[in-house]
Amino acid sequence: MRTIESLGDLRGKRVLVRSDFNVPLKDGIITDDGRIRAALPTLTSLIDAGAKVIIMAHLGRPKGTVNPDFSLAPVAKRLQELIGVPVTLAQDVTGPSAQEAVSALKDGEIVLLENVRFDSRETSKVDEERQALARELAELADAFVSDGFGVVHRKQASVYDIAKLIPSAAGSLVLKEIESLRRATENPDRPYAVVLGGSKVSDKLGVIANLLTKADMLFIGGGMVYTFLAAQGHSVGTSLLEEDQIPTVRRYIAEAAERGVDLVLPVDITIAPEFAADAPKQVVPVDAIPDDHMGLDIGPASCELFASKLATAQTVAWNGPMGVFEFEAFSSGTRAVAEALSKGTMFSVIGGGDSAAAVRLLGFDEATFSHISTGGGASLELLEGKVLPGIAVLED
Ligand code: ADP
Ligand code: MG
Repeated sequence: MRTIESLGDLRGKRVLVRSDFNVPLKDGIITDDGRIRAALPTLTSLIDAGAKVIIMAHLGRPKGTVNPDFSLAPVAKRLQELIGVPVTLAQDVTGPSAQEAVSALKDGEIVLLENVRFDSRETSKVDEERQALARELAELADAFVSDGFGVVHRKQASVYDIAKLIPSAAGSLVLKEIESLRRATENPDRPYAVVLGGSKVSDKLGVIANLLTKADMLFIGGGMVYTFLAAQGHSVGTSLLEEDQIPTVRRYIAEAAERGVDLVLPVDITIAPEFAADAPKQVVPVDAIPDDHMGLDIGPASCELFASKLATAQTVAWNGPMGVFEFEAFSSGTRAVAEALSKGTMFSVIGGGDSAAAVRLLGFDEATFSHISTGGGASLELLEGKVLPGIAVLED
């Protein structure tokens, strides 16, 4: 993959950067600035190199129209505080305000273009429309740096088409994400463990299919485990169940056995009569879930089993919480897996938006994991072994 070094001396050059600033907002206040912080190393290195930095980013889903509710104004303010360099917010994407702000840029300064999704061409399925926007963006700059990992699985004007028009390279965040996710999926140090959870098995079929051919151990928890338990003939009460996926899951169980993959399922389940934070909880063996109860977490014996087996792994790829971690009472399984990875010396990668949020919410020190991905969909597609358009376009 081409790196920023390949772009040569950037002093005085206009460098267009795609960042992922899609932060959560509440009443106009940023509630988690993690994505802005993650973008700082690349931006700082460009400023230090004397480049004129022009950033493209999106916020929310304005659906191709200008909507002040989705303005990047709060992001511009936060970015300026964090980076300590003036950040000018253009009032449009490629219009007069953007052009004027860019021509007034001095070396080492930053212009943030307004929400790129205010322009309907950004996400258009029509190649010519995206290309037209990309050409307008390209006119603003001499080079392009792709650093918005959260969007590299998208074939969009500011991610994909732009890279074909001007010299382009991957930023350090994208490089780190790709390196880590590849290390945790291709030729991993063994034993190699894959831990999957989350709400729906149908969201994760591609990940199971890809990683089942590589893993030594496959752990299943979260909402998707009930389809596995049902496939084994257990009744799962009112738990999340995707009946139409039972035959597929049966095939995966058989394939794991054929390949000698250690398929680790919970041995006990924490159940409740309803989906609520304060629902009375109870622990039962996996084969004893009552008809009027639902599984909301893996049980304590399963936590011990998962933790002790994970401790033997050299590489762990984890996607999907083990239970409804948003409810303190049902967060033990997710906590147990996070703790095993946090304490261990293995190479550990956490992918998936909710999984990353879970380890933060549960108070783990992010530095105790090898890598926590900033991209939900993009990391999932890498775990599926897919080629991402925004990455392929940066490769020679
Ligand atoms: P990620 O974003 O990490 O890929 P998912 O989006 O697949 O993860 O799943 C996360 C959601 O799964 C969480 O909101 C969590 O509450 C839910 N979940 C986990 N276990 C269960 C369960 N047993 N029943 C219902 N929902 C569950
Ligand atoms: Mg999710």
